[in-house]
Amino acid sequence: MTNQNVMVSDAKSGVGVAITVSMSNSSLFSSMVPKPPATPGRFIIPRKKPLKKLDTGGVGGARVNAWVDLMRASSPTHIKSTASLPENEDQNSWMIHHPSALHMFEQIINASKGKQIVMFLDYDGTLSPIVEDPDQAFMSNEMRAAVRDVARYFPTAIVTGRCRDKVYKFVKLAELYYAGSHGMDIKGPAKGRRYIKGDQRVLFQAASEFLPMIEEVYKILLEKTKSTPGAKVENNKFCVSVHFRCVDEKKWAALADQVKLVLNEFPKLRLSQGRKVLEIRPTIKWDKGKALEFLLESLGYANSNDVFPVYIGDDRTDEDAFKVLRNRGQGFGILVSKVPKETSASYSLQEPSEVMNFLRRLVECKRLSLRGQ
Ligand SMILES: [Mg+2]
Repeated sequence: MTNQNVMVSDAKSGVGVAITVSMSNSSLFSSMVPKPPATPGRFIIPRKKPLKKLDTGGVGGARVNAWVDLMRASSPTHIKSTASLPENEDQNSWMIHHPSALHMFEQIINASKGKQIVMFLDYDGTLSPIVEDPDQAFMSNEMRAAVRDVARYFPTAIVTGRCRDKVYKFVKLAELYYAGSHGMDIKGPAKGRRYIKGDQRVLFQAASEFLPMIEEVYKILLEKTKSTPGAKVENNKFCVSVHFRCVDEKKWAALADQVKLVLNEFPKLRLSQGRKVLEIRPTIKWDKGKALEFLLESLGYANSNDVFPVYIGDDRTDEDAFKVLRNRGQGFGILVSKVPKETSASYSLQEPSEVMNFLRRLVECKRLSLRGQ
């Protein structure tokens, strides 16, 4: 029993399904509603491939190579990297598939008219820059002001892999919802407007019974990874993160193997991959997409057509939320990325400063519409 605890959300597998999308032209930017943008051509979307199928059980060989490929694919270090894309996909065609949410702002606003916008924001790489030391991933005062303003007009949630308390220390806004540990730990606003009736500040903790196990694996990984310079282990309460953004790429394979060997002793935990981070989580089926659905339900929008959820994130783990929005046919996802990536998001923004501009424009637009009433 060495493999049951390993899963990744996506893989550069080479196994794919071909789909054809309808033709469009340069009028795309003036006529599109915020749905998956259509563009000419035929492209390949790789199928999901659970990592356990790549795992042959021993140390080294194909298994390690597969891990390192995945680590590279999810952690591009060069702007021009297209490691996770089909060969014929380039930056320009990717931007046609996933145009800038700033360029498409008017269309987005038109599509949201008459509906309640609910804002979901990832933290690292979305509101704060990705930095070498995750403890130093501070958001700027300008970004904090933009998020605070958004929360004045729209229910707003931070959805993060980090533990709720830790992200709160960065964001410092009591008027938001916080879904920490990939949504396994959800808390409502401590002040300001509450969209959910009653005093339900702690709304949900999906995996309380796993807390002692998480603590144990955290301590073991802390010890084991001491031999890998730059590796940083973080206890995020309901999950453990092993950051490798400061680890020499030559040591990634050994680090991944080390983490997997520890995980073999914990079949109720699984391993997934984020942006320059390996994450250990309970095997329960809970992710950022489930957190999004839970919050929409808590806010009273479970079966409503009058809601327009917007989810902004930069990470592989945000894809679960993007997929939920696609399946619901409501709102849209925005991927924060400078490089083309396979994504279920409809739009893109390049970096946190663009996220801030998008949030500001949303607030400005709302203020203008309120004045006009
Ligand atoms: Mg992120």
